Amino acid sequence: METQVYKTAELTKKYLETCRLEAERFLKENGRKPCLAVVLVGSDPASAIYVRKKEETCRASGLEALDVPLDPSVGFAKLQETVRELNARDDVDGILVQSPLPKGWDERLIQRMIDPRKDVDGFHPENAGRLFIDANEALKNGLPPCTPAGVMEVLKEAGINVAGKHAVIIGRSTIVGKPMAAMLLAADATVTIAHSRTDKLPQLCRTADILVAATGRAQFLTADYVKAGAVVIDVGISRLELPEGKVKVVGDVNQPEMMHLAGFLTPVPGGIGPMTIALLIRNTIRAAHNRVAAQA
Ligand code: NAD
Repeated sequence: METQVYKTAELTKKYLETCRLEAERFLKENGRKPCLAVVLVGSDPASAIYVRKKEETCRASGLEALDVPLDPSVGFAKLQETVRELNARDDVDGILVQSPLPKGWDERLIQRMIDPRKDVDGFHPENAGRLFIDANEALKNGLPPCTPAGVMEVLKEAGINVAGKHAVIIGRSTIVGKPMAAMLLAADATVTIAHSRTDKLPQLCRTADILVAATGRAQFLTADYVKAGAVVIDVGISRLELPEGKVKVVGDVNQPEMMHLAGFLTPVPGGIGPMTIALLIRNTIRAAHNRVAAQA
C-alpha cells in the first residue's frame, strides 16, 4: 500500500493568505491591524524559537505582534499584572503566554486570568466549556485550541471523512488530547482517549481508523500500533540531540515503519506544527472581529 505523506506547506500558505486578506480588511475598517501580544518568560531556547516563529508569521500576515519579554526574576505577580494590563488594552486582540512557565508558577491561573475574548490559545475555561458543549460551533465562531483545530483542517482538506470511524487519541492534555477528542466526537467519530496508564496500547491502537499521537515520546509509534490503511496524525515534537551538537526534530511516529502500512500520515516536521501557527493567526483575527462586533 502506498502511504500518502501529507505535508501541510501548501495548505498553510493558502490558509495564511486568507488571513492576510482578512487582516487587510480589518485594517481598512478599523484603522489598525489585529494585534497579538506574545508573553515569553525567560529564555528557554525552544520557547524562544516558537515565539519568534509566531511573531514572524503574524507580521507576514499583516497583523501586529507585540513582543512582551519578562525576566523570571520579576516574579509571578508581575506576570499577573502584565496579563491584567494586556486585558485592559483596547489595541490588543489576542494574548498568548508561552508555556512552559518557570517551575512553581501557576499556569492554570494565568489561563483563567486571560480575558476569554482575547484567549487565542483557547485554554480559558469559558472557551474550553464552549468547545465541549458544541465543538462545531466553537470551530466555526469561537476560539478553539490551535493544534487540534489544525488537525481538523488537515482532515477536511485531505477529504478524510471521520464520521463513524474509530479515532484513538494518544494523550489527554488540555492542549491537544482532550480538545481533539471533543472535535472528533462532534465530527461523529467514535473516540477513545489513551494515555500513559492505558493497558495494551498497541492492541487498542490497532483498532483505530484514525490515530492521533500526542505524547512527546520520540518515534515510539511503531508498526505494531497501526492497522493497515489507517490515518496517522503525528502531533508530537521532540528534539533529538545528535553528535556534533546538532538537533533533529522528530515526532511521536516512527515514520519509516509507517511507509506502506498507514494509508495517510502527517510528517514531523512539516505537518501539524505549521498549521498550529496558522490557526493562531486565524484565532487572533477572529478575536479582533468579535471584539469590534461586541463594541458596536
Ligand atoms: P503533555 O505532556 O501535556 O501530555 C502528554 C500526554 O501523553 C499525556 O496525556 C500522557 O498521558 C501521554 N503519554 C505519555 N507517555 C505515554 C505513553 N508511554 N503511552 C501513552 N500515552 C503517553 O503534552 P502535550 O502538551 O499534550 O503535547 C504532546 C506533544 O505534542 C509534545 O511533543 C508537544 O511538543 C507536541 N505539541 C505539538 C504542537 C504542534 O504545534 N504540533 C502543539 C502542542 C503540543
